[in-house]
Amino acid sequence: MPDSEIVVFPWNTNFETGIASIDQQHLQLFKLVNKLANALVHENRIEISEIFEQLADYASYHFTEEERVWSEYFQQDDWMLSHARTHHSFLPDILAIQKESLNSDWRDTIEKVLQFLVRWLALHILEDDKKMSLVVRELQAGLSLSEAKQIAKKKMRGSVGVLIDTVLTMYEELSSHAIELIREKHRRIVAERELLALNQQLQQLAITDELCGLYNRRHFMQVIPNHIEQAYRSQTPLCFVSLDLDHFKTLNDSLGHIQGDNAIQQVGITLQRLFCQEGQFIFRMGGEEFLLVATSTSIEQAQQFAESIRSSIACIKLNNDKKNLSHQLTCSVGVFCHTPQFNDDFLYFLERADHALYQAKNSGRNRVVFANS
Ligand code: GH3
Ligand code: MG
Ligand code: MG
Repeated sequence: MPDSEIVVFPWNTNFETGIASIDQQHLQLFKLVNKLANALVHENRIEISEIFEQLADYASYHFTEEERVWSEYFQQDDWMLSHARTHHSFLPDILAIQKESLNSDWRDTIEKVLQFLVRWLALHILEDDKKMSLVVRELQAGLSLSEAKQIAKKKMRGSVGVLIDTVLTMYEELSSHAIELIREKHRRIVAERELLALNQQLQQLAITDELCGLYNRRHFMQVIPNHIEQAYRSQTPLCFVSLDLDHFKTLNDSLGHIQGDNAIQQVGITLQRLFCQEGQFIFRMGGEEFLLVATSTSIEQAQQFAESIRSSIACIKLNNDKKNLSHQLTCSVGVFCHTPQFNDDFLYFLERADHALYQAKNSGRNRVVFANS
């Protein structure tokens, strides 16, 4: 068992009966109980039910094996029969606990089962199995069954009995503490998981534009320099597409700011639909300005998507029904495709794409202009 695991049910030499096969099987049962307890920490219900099944199977196997050992010495003696009856009550008792707790939290149920297992196994091994093994020892020394039983009974009433009581009390306390520790560990894992999710959410928020859900300028600064570096190393072309909505101020002035926001959202959706291949990134750089970056893209491919973006945005129409006004959206686009050379940084790409955009604006808007490479 790894160090970090909690031991609910520690093995102790007091549990040894002196019969190797039985001791080994008891040890295996202890291990399964500990495994079950630790599975609670990670809240893995599938794992828990698998371990539980293993435990039930192993207990049945062990009971059969143990009864086979006892029957060699006890035949159908009353101790043998009462011992077998205790075995038979084991699984039904667990099922009864599960049934009783049908409406409670499943973790509470497993904890109850665990406490039952620890108590039952400790008591059964210390009282019943040890008593049986004392008889076996005396029989092996040549005593008759009734003499052996007398001696075993006497020993169990004396110092052995005191020891059993002490060990049992200790185990009850120990297992309760261990279960509390498991709860604590589980609470910590849940808290850590929640914190991690919150952190991821925050990180996502920090790089997302809240109006249209596209990446923002901060994310551009985080990822694009690396892509330029990669394109430089592999000597592959990179395309910057700078896009600015035309006469947006007029749209705001005539239809109102809400429709202006609505237009920005619709542009975001359109860009995401048209520009969604691997190696394609869209950023809202601010206001009504967007930047698209495509890695490993030829001028021909850039021409195609820049034109389809321009024409799709030119299909977006905003209305203000109250004022009975509408605005046909258009955009101007500047494209710069280039294989980076030494010292060509993102500013260089931005400037060239923006310069092309400026030319698109100046030459009448609603058009795509390519910068010379
Ligand atoms: P041009 O064709 O030359 O680009 O003209 P324009 O009116 O689009 O450009 P200008 O830079 O003069 O105006 C941009 C306007 O965009 C001004 C600003 O109020 C508006 N704007 C910026 N961000 C937002 C926003 O988030 N929502 C809305 N509704 N308007 C915005
Ligand atoms: Mg504009
Ligand atoms: Mg602008």
